[in-house]
Amino acid sequence: MKNIKEEMTEEKNCIGKAVCRDECLSEPIIPVTPVTSAEPVTPVIPVTPIEPEMPIIYDTHAHYDDSSFDEDRYSVIEGLRAKGIGCVVNISADMLSIRESIALAEKYEFFYSSVGIHPHNAEEYNAENEALLYGFSNNEKVKAIGEIGLDYHYDHPARDIQKKVFAAQLDIAAKTGLPVIIHDREAHEDVLNIIREKAEGLSGVVFHCYSGSVEMAKELFKMGFYISIGGALTFKNSRKLPEVVSFMPLDRIMLETDCPYLAPDPYRGKRNDSGYLYLTARKISEIKGISYEETAAATTENAIKFFGLPPALN
Ligand SMILES: [Zn+2]
Repeated sequence: MKNIKEEMTEEKNCIGKAVCRDECLSEPIIPVTPVTSAEPVTPVIPVTPIEPEMPIIYDTHAHYDDSSFDEDRYSVIEGLRAKGIGCVVNISADMLSIRESIALAEKYEFFYSSVGIHPHNAEEYNAENEALLYGFSNNEKVKAIGEIGLDYHYDHPARDIQKKVFAAQLDIAAKTGLPVIIHDREAHEDVLNIIREKAEGLSGVVFHCYSGSVEMAKELFKMGFYISIGGALTFKNSRKLPEVVSFMPLDRIMLETDCPYLAPDPYRGKRNDSGYLYLTARKISEIKGISYEETAAATTENAIKFFGLPPALN
């Protein structure tokens, strides 16, 4: 029987994606609106209301800058509010995606961004880019440092480079006061050791796409950390993650898609988007024996608190 880790290996994950996205850059990301007064022009696209009876959920980990959304990015995003999505935190992974992610957050009122260099792109990290990361983290729509961490599945670049870049970005988080989003793939021990060294200065830590053991999850909760749960929970051969969810305190869970990757069942293998997030929330409710509304309320409250997001915009 496969365990979660093997299962994740089969799925495309938010790593190693193609970096050539020149076309995206040429898109008119921020529409040209004539400035007619001294008033600031943001937010560019205000939120559309969510039906009052629809429980609001927050997608805390998405990659809408990914090239798989190039054809229909704006129509997908503009359809999300009608599907109950209160806020989206778009996660960056390299210097290019940081710019694209912030542009999305500046364009849409309900979008926020993280800034950070994924371990797979750790070789991009240098003094000049570090200074840029500090600069970007001042943007008011930037709510986290991430995704950062270690990825020993591909072991590229070398582990010592990954560790150095991870530690340096934890320092950025500590200095800016922003919480961190952790990518940990087959590197649990080293990730924990590095975080332990820096934990005191960090305002918040969430492990995304969690693939560790039940014991490790218990340790994370003891340290006050969060876990964000995505579509892998719904996979038929998912074993360890449901066990983690069954005991995890409701005040430690957040929802994520990691879209376009890891679409929940029955859409596994298709392009994911936040419109499928309710399937993950429904599975959490089933496992914990609580209502969908309770799951929605708890995960939304956790996301608001963790990232410092506005209460459900409506
Ligand atoms: Zn991701």
